[in-house]
Amino acid sequence: MSGSTCDVVVLGAGAAGLSGATALARSRRSVVVVDGGDPRNAVSGHAHNVLGREGIGPLDLLAQGRREAQGYGVRFVEDRAVLARRDEWGFVLELLGGATVRARRLLLATGLTDELPDVPGLRRFWGRSVLHCAYCHGWEVRGQRIGVLGTRPASLHQALVFRQLSEDVTVFVQDLEVPAGTAEQFDVLGVRLLPGTVRGVSGEDGNLRVDLDGTQIGVQALVVTPYHRARAELFAQLGGELATNPVGEFVPTQQAGATEVPGVWAAGNVTDLGAMVQGSSAAGVLAGMRINHDLVLEDVAKLLAAR
Ligand SMILES: Cc1cc2nc3c(=O)[nH]c(=O)nc-3n(C[C@H](O)[C@H](O)[C@H](O)COP(=O)(O)OP(=O)(O)OC[C@H]3O[C@@H](n4cnc5c(N)ncnc54)[C@H](O)[C@@H]3O)c2cc1C
Repeated sequence: MSGSTCDVVVLGAGAAGLSGATALARSRRSVVVVDGGDPRNAVSGHAHNVLGREGIGPLDLLAQGRREAQGYGVRFVEDRAVLARRDEWGFVLELLGGATVRARRLLLATGLTDELPDVPGLRRFWGRSVLHCAYCHGWEVRGQRIGVLGTRPASLHQALVFRQLSEDVTVFVQDLEVPAGTAEQFDVLGVRLLPGTVRGVSGEDGNLRVDLDGTQIGVQALVVTPYHRARAELFAQLGGELATNPVGEFVPTQQAGATEVPGVWAAGNVTDLGAMVQGSSAAGVLAGMRINHDLVLEDVAKLLAAR
């Protein structure tokens, strides 16, 4: 595809983008989805808390979503959008492979990047034994020996939540002050606190060795608190400004994913750092509905003007 024109270009074919694209195509909108092919949870073998598809492989779920979208005429481009600008039609997206896509509206569903604490070895186990979310993989490590890398205030909250799943929870407290009230909660729950610096993680999945200032401590799973960075370079190119909260930065949106940049909507993790698969999907549908509504009004206005 060297050049393509459509009603809506959707950036990202994760849960948010596929759901938005399908909602739009079912309203007879022409939709092109551009996707870089690295959804956030691809490292995990299973997706949980997905109604009706509990435990499905993340890539299997997205493959099914693609087939459904294609059934309504959505076109897919396997590429990465690198530049976005406005023109008289709406938006022009330039792709890494050299193609361009022009669209009247833009739905950003590009997800986020998880920046892990800077500990050697951590990334090797990410999504399997190094975990960030009790609702994604907590049941799978229930009753196990769980370590929590205490690098941010949110890590302390995670320790409490994982304690619901296992009686054996140890927090490696690193560059972090534990408020007296939290220390009391840990005390009554039997959560251990070990101060020090984690120098590295080694071992194998399900049997990790945490190097705490030279002492090797065995855990079966290690919980971390990543910094979540929205994949939002194109939003910035169009003049949008990111917002931040204690765990990351994101595209701020109003109702149904509308952003401050006219014609640009956002859905899923790019705007909601905590959204799981189903929340991202629901946000994509809602944004798709609103974009369609916006186009309906524009089309009617054009007809009235031409009368
Ligand atoms: C390890 C792990 C396990 C998880 N497990 C679960 C679970 O069990 N259950 C659950 O509900 N949630 C789980 N999640 C959360 C889940 O991954 C997210 O809710 C979901 O991926 C968000 O969907 P999304 O569509 O917003 O983004 P993504 O799924 O990340 O999709 C974004 C897509 O956009 C594409 N993209 C990015 N930039 C560009 C660009 N410039 N041009 C073109 N394409 C681009 C990417 O290639 C990617 O394919 C997990 C997360 C992690 C990290």
